[in-house]
Amino acid sequence: MMAAISGDAACGAAVKADGYGLGARAVVQRLAAAGCRDFFVATWAEAEGLADLVAAQGIALSVLHGVRAEDMAAAIAGPARPVLNTAAQLARWRESGGGRACDVMVDSGMHRLGVSVAEIADGLLDGLTIETLMSHLACADEDSSMNERQRAAFAELAGRTGARRMSLANSAGVALGQGYCFDLTRPGIALYGGVPSAALAGRIAQVAFPQAQILQRRHVPAGGAVGYNATWIAPHDTEVAILNLGYADGYLRGFSGTGMASAGGAALPVIGRISMDLTAIDVSAARDLAEGDWVTIDYALPAASVASGLSQYELLTGLGRRFARVWG
Ligand SMILES: *Cc1c(COP(=O)(O)O)cnc(C)c1O
Repeated sequence: MMAAISGDAACGAAVKADGYGLGARAVVQRLAAAGCRDFFVATWAEAEGLADLVAAQGIALSVLHGVRAEDMAAAIAGPARPVLNTAAQLARWRESGGGRACDVMVDSGMHRLGVSVAEIADGLLDGLTIETLMSHLACADEDSSMNERQRAAFAELAGRTGARRMSLANSAGVALGQGYCFDLTRPGIALYGGVPSAALAGRIAQVAFPQAQILQRRHVPAGGAVGYNATWIAPHDTEVAILNLGYADGYLRGFSGTGMASAGGAALPVIGRISMDLTAIDVSAARDLAEGDWVTIDYALPAASVASGLSQYELLTGLGRRFARVWG
């Protein structure tokens, strides 16, 4: 889907933060099999965890944080390319990178990472072997005049750096149109079921379906309290199930009283406060659900974001290590 709307541009994939929480190795293997060739992580530790896949899958891996002094050993030993962000990083790579190719991030207006357009005009990149010149959009998920300003500033650099390719768009940027896609796109969240902008609404399927198991089913009489601080009092006799899921798994307190689960078509509201390892749901609508049964947590990212007050990104990257990642 993201490859299709990237048009003529190659479609890469951001797999930082362990593939947005889903497991970077499994994500890379699946996307490489689907034809994706360019992957982005944040750190050298993340790159090391994928290093063997670079040759095995015939892919390229870029490290967005660039090279700090303490990264140089790992950068030289491994197959990934740094995305150089500052004059000091560029100097470090010139001195110790052995002439190897790098990527470069240029700041086109977000004022986060990247060298400036003026520094490039002053010759900061001269003599480097640059695979991809990149920039990043601040407001791609909104209808903002900043998008066109950033696109134009970046487009001005075409042919002026010796970079083999140019890359600007994240997921929401791809949806802004072909003019934003340049040679290579870098979607992340949309690959994992996130809907980053209205333009993509209804076109992206949910990817991650968290499930939890019932540890205990109990009857709570009218007036009985459930959970910490007794924030939920049964308005009438209620059937309650206690799940082995809590905020330590990334199911944060924002879902207290707002989250939903389902089983066999029955909607099962979260009641009371989410605990570290436990969550209570009302199972009055599911007569047969019993201890040991599994329920699916409602986790369509746009709706779960509204329910919890968390961003779609936080919802995925926060999913804890106690979940087994099972691929369908
Ligand atoms: C995280 C990141 C992306 C992917 O962004 P999404 O919004 O998840 O599509 C692309 N480029 C850079 C530089 C990033 O840091």
